[in-house]
Amino acid sequence: MKKDISKNMLNFAVGPVMMDKEILKIGATQLPYFRTNDFSNVILENESILKELSGAKKSSRVIFLTGSGTAAMESSIINLFNKKDKVLVVNGGNFGKRFKELCDIHNINSKEIKLNYGETLNKNHLSPYDGKGFTGFLINMHETTTGVLYDMRTIKDFCSKNKLFLVVDAISSFLADHYNMQDYGVNATILGSQKALALPPGMSFVILDEVAQKRINKKHNHTLYFDFNRYLRDGKRGQTPYTPAVTILLQLRKRLSSIKKIGINNIINNTARIANDFRAKIVNIPLEIPWQSLSNTLTPLKPTGNMTADEIVSYLKDHNIFVCPNGGDLKEKIFRVGHIGSITKKDNNTLISLFIDMKNKGIL
Ligand SMILES: *Cc1c(COP(=O)(O)O)cnc(C)c1O
Repeated sequence: MKKDISKNMLNFAVGPVMMDKEILKIGATQLPYFRTNDFSNVILENESILKELSGAKKSSRVIFLTGSGTAAMESSIINLFNKKDKVLVVNGGNFGKRFKELCDIHNINSKEIKLNYGETLNKNHLSPYDGKGFTGFLINMHETTTGVLYDMRTIKDFCSKNKLFLVVDAISSFLADHYNMQDYGVNATILGSQKALALPPGMSFVILDEVAQKRINKKHNHTLYFDFNRYLRDGKRGQTPYTPAVTILLQLRKRLSSIKKIGINNIINNTARIANDFRAKIVNIPLEIPWQSLSNTLTPLKPTGNMTADEIVSYLKDHNIFVCPNGGDLKEKIFRVGHIGSITKKDNNTLISLFIDMKNKGIL
């Protein structure tokens, strides 16, 4: 049997990420039966804190879905849009592209705004669609493929002017960058368990304002597992229609209560500190940050020396350090180093030291 690599492993990937000891401990315990009042309280508490941390209105509701983030993206498309909708999708990478694919699969009329890698979204991209009868807007606030964080104010202004129903996938920016549903005029927010929430993968959450809830109530869906009406109904008493990932919901409660104690702004500022620390330390290493307007979640890196991006990723893996490769036409050009989860400046130093060692040996 292979030796347990997790002991000395450092994970700078963007999800799953390094988890706190208190979260790991919960994963090693026996599970309670979940159709009980005690467990309903766990869900209700999670709902209340998630709403608070995302700046949702009191009247908002949260769907607790067992399934990775893509399950929440897909079920949001199914439940929140219909044949009469005309949706704008921002595609600045793989996750934007995924929204477009989902609209196509579910026959939702959509138009994509295609951005180059690393390009931010500005008013000029949006103005051709002003007053053109669109009803919805889909965006990944942080396009994880490139690290680009979109300006939510620009999006909010465009959506409120055109009365668009706004769905934001904040999976890879929530807790790493400022986010507030009411400030940004967001109707539905999609979150996932394994990014900055730093829990195991397996659950996703959709926060719905009253407008979103009305859209759901009016729709008859050809799906059972993903029908949000069932989740809204059972969620009133703190239950899910089907067996949830009980462990993750218990870990979520622990995580959310510790975030509340520390303060969400301190959490975000700490991630920013780790990201800025890393970005400052790579200046003398043949790695370049290829574009700006970055999320605190990760840093995209373009090698300018002897190794390609995918070669660096596999070299680091052989040294027990995980970073994120890119796929497709970015495979050799870009890789990404994450700053979320329980990563410290000391961990940054370990990675930087290895880069310096690679440079001194003439391989990087
Ligand atoms: C990780 C991520 C998702 C979800 O991916 P899953 O693999 O399905 O969990 C969705 N959107 C963004 C922006 C992400 O970073």
